[in-house]
Amino acid sequence: MYCPKCGAMNDENAWKCVECGDELPHAGEAPPPGGPVGGPMGEPMGSPMGVPMGEPPPKINNYLVPSILATIFCCWPMGIAAIVFAAQANSKMGQGDYEGAVQSAEKAKTWTWITVGAGALIGVIYIALMILGAAAGN
Ligand SMILES: [Zn+2]
Repeated sequence: MYCPKCGAMNDENAWKCVECGDELPHAGEAPPPGGPVGGPMGEPMGSPMGVPMGEPPPKINNYLVPSILATIFCCWPMGIAAIVFAAQANSKMGQGDYEGAVQSAEKAKTWTWITVGAGALIGVIYIALMILGAAAGN
């Protein structure tokens, strides 16, 4: 489609103009008159790569809240690692470093699960010791 603001040619699925960065009206609901869908300009739906150009990056889960909860309720030494990575994902996202943010969020997720897992394990051992202690006391 053509940008209504600057007239630049954009991908059919683009949400943003490649030239001026202005938001493009959504095609599909109302095809432009005279513009044949899937005409000589190429593909009717989607780009050859399957990923529409200029698509906004999806909002990532930086695991900040679960990492904090895991730290409070499980074991804090490991939870702090999760929080550090979650905060890193947050700041990288703020700097526009999407790849780095995703990587940090992945680490935050891993450490959150390690923290939860360790907390659960400690809880199970604690309960087992309580049961053993109670059994020994009888
Ligand atoms: Zn434009």
